[in-house]
Amino acid sequence: MKPRIGIAGITGRMGACLRREVAATGAELAGGIGRPGSAGEFADIAALAAECDVVIDFTHASTVAAHAVALAGAKTAWILGTTGYDAAAAHAAATAGGVIPVVAAANFSPGVNLVLALAERMAAALPASAYDAEIVEMHHRQKVDAPSGTALALGEAVAAGRGVELANVIVRARDGHTGARADGHIGFASLLGGQIVGNHSLTFTAATEQIGLTHLAFDRGVFAAGAVRAAFWVQGRPPGLYSMKDVLGL
Ligand code: NAD
Repeated sequence: MKPRIGIAGITGRMGACLRREVAATGAELAGGIGRPGSAGEFADIAALAAECDVVIDFTHASTVAAHAVALAGAKTAWILGTTGYDAAAAHAAATAGGVIPVVAAANFSPGVNLVLALAERMAAALPASAYDAEIVEMHHRQKVDAPSGTALALGEAVAAGRGVELANVIVRARDGHTGARADGHIGFASLLGGQIVGNHSLTFTAATEQIGLTHLAFDRGVFAAGAVRAAFWVQGRPPGLYSMKDVLGL
């Protein structure tokens, strides 16, 4: 059965792509919300959730905790694409996963999720003492959070492959006299410019070789297609916090 879908963030860049993607799949679009006061068919998240089987949410980090409560209250499934939220918001999303099915992903592209799976395997195979892991990302000039959620997910994948906590080895940026690189650190660099949808590269560099993975997103449609695929997949699932790896069977 095709789900009745609501879009939180319908007036945004992703919202426009999602509107097109929902129409292309033949699913029913119940409508959406933007930030308070902006256009949208519903007054707020609770009103939207009451009219949908699933809400696809690409809004702003500040909304996540409140959306978690509203969607759990309405028993409406949640596809969470918003990035840049803090640990308290992540906890709220996980708590909602005890009541409703939640698919949360920093990146809904199938290609990126394959890259994440490969990154973990590479990190497990390449010793941290010999291979320096560095992540570089570039995004459009309007992006407000850095490193990007996808870059951080890449870092998490490398840390998981190495059996360490990302928080203990992360170097989010380098500036000034930072000293030499320590073994095991995972370094990040974030660039902004123009209208780049999302470029990510992960390199493992040793004294004698370098190996890397690169993903370039050409069109936001790739995220919208993945999110709508998740909205179809989530129907009838038990409550839980799922990832795009679950949706893709990776
Ligand atoms: P955007 O600024 O173009 O759109 C944001 C949307 O959210 C707008 O509709 C805005 O009205 C709405 N919004 C903002 N604050 C709100 C609030 N308090 N309550 C309700 N609605 C609110 O941004 P975008 O480029 O569409 O990206 C939106 C989010 O999705 C960002 O967090 C971005 O990083 C993330 N993103 C995730 C993926 C992924 O695959 N997971 C891909 C692209 C973007």
